[in-house]
Amino acid sequence: MGLIVKEFGGTAVGDLDRIRNVANRIVKTYTAGNNVVVILSAMAGITDGLIDMAHKITPSPDKREMDVLLATGEQTSAALLSITLMSMGYPASSLLGHQAGVMTNCAFGDARIVDVGASRIKEYINNRRIVIVAGFQGCDEEGNITTLGRGGSDTSAVAIAAAIDADSCEIYTDVDGIYTADPNICEKARKMNKVSFDEMLEMASLGAKVLQIRSVELAKKYNVPIHVRSSFNEEEGTMVMDVDSDMESPVVSGVTHNKNEARITIKTVPDQPGIASKIFSAIAEAGILVDMIIQSSPTDNLNDLSFTVPKKDFKEAMKIGKRVGSEIGAKDVLGEDSVAKVSVTGVGMKSHHGVAAKMFTALANENINISMISTSEIRISCVIEEKYAELAVRALHSAFGLDKEE
Ligand code: ASP
Ligand code: MG
Repeated sequence: MGLIVKEFGGTAVGDLDRIRNVANRIVKTYTAGNNVVVILSAMAGITDGLIDMAHKITPSPDKREMDVLLATGEQTSAALLSITLMSMGYPASSLLGHQAGVMTNCAFGDARIVDVGASRIKEYINNRRIVIVAGFQGCDEEGNITTLGRGGSDTSAVAIAAAIDADSCEIYTDVDGIYTADPNICEKARKMNKVSFDEMLEMASLGAKVLQIRSVELAKKYNVPIHVRSSFNEEEGTMVMDVDSDMESPVVSGVTHNKNEARITIKTVPDQPGIASKIFSAIAEAGILVDMIIQSSPTDNLNDLSFTVPKKDFKEAMKIGKRVGSEIGAKDVLGEDSVAKVSVTGVGMKSHHGVAAKMFTALANENINISMISTSEIRISCVIEEKYAELAVRALHSAFGLDKEE
């Protein structure tokens, strides 16, 4: 007998028929002798609909009230599932975030979980009840309702699984797992059987579409393996777990691309202490996240400095770059927003050499120019022209032997 946490996304509970399907799935696990704790999202489209409604009243609705509003989506689906299970003759109880002991800080709309009490969950389980917890929500110290950011019920599920020491945490979604590349652009992408927490975090651009990335951070911290699988079939999905790099690990397990960055180059700045600090302090003060940074080695005591920022912040970062650039005597500030970042990620990289060379060769074979390079222990990223992003992903996917067999 095990203790199983199952989380279902919005499409899985999109209407009453689907809620009944979810109920049947839960019953199967429950009648096999397991205890089941279910975390639910709001029915598909509900959260968006509530946000739209509030914005019809005012463009900037009060944040505390928004969380009171948005939490109703999950309250509805949790109650409907509980009613369904009870109508089928099974003991079920729904709990809202605060009733389940999900305590958060007070950052409305993007709250972080600080503790999960879970005493009521445990009490119900001990009485063989199926527990249904409204995901995405919690409450702060003062008892205000909070929400965890879009996609937050994934994070609820992992936090609750950790708090009750569950035997497994299954996240049911629209896709049947995590793929080696975005299957929409790379038709040879394969579903991975397992992927490590670290790879998943590095592949945020793939993973974030499937899992709220904060849920992976939490899963890594508390070592909660996540089984990401489809709510529409019984197939095994992808295990996101603690995988050590060993000879068995593929050198590269996934290829990702990100078109949401722009590049800024500050030309010929003096090679002296305090220059980088000035530039990046000004960017940080504007709340802009910098991803890659490259400084050329100095010639004639002058450097070029390039960095990337999110595309949405490009204009503002350019303004700051120009202002600070003229203060420090830079010759020019150049911007390019039609760039993309392609990355290869794999824990196996730690014990293999030649990965970078192979990546650069694969890009060169397609005549794709690399304008910036950055690496971490388990990832290599290149900035290229945006129009080549898809081609680059497919070329790298083949070069690293990830293509599925015909
Ligand atoms: N209902 C929330 C959203 O749409 C939370 C979730 O689905 O995980 O973002
Ligand atoms: Mg979800």
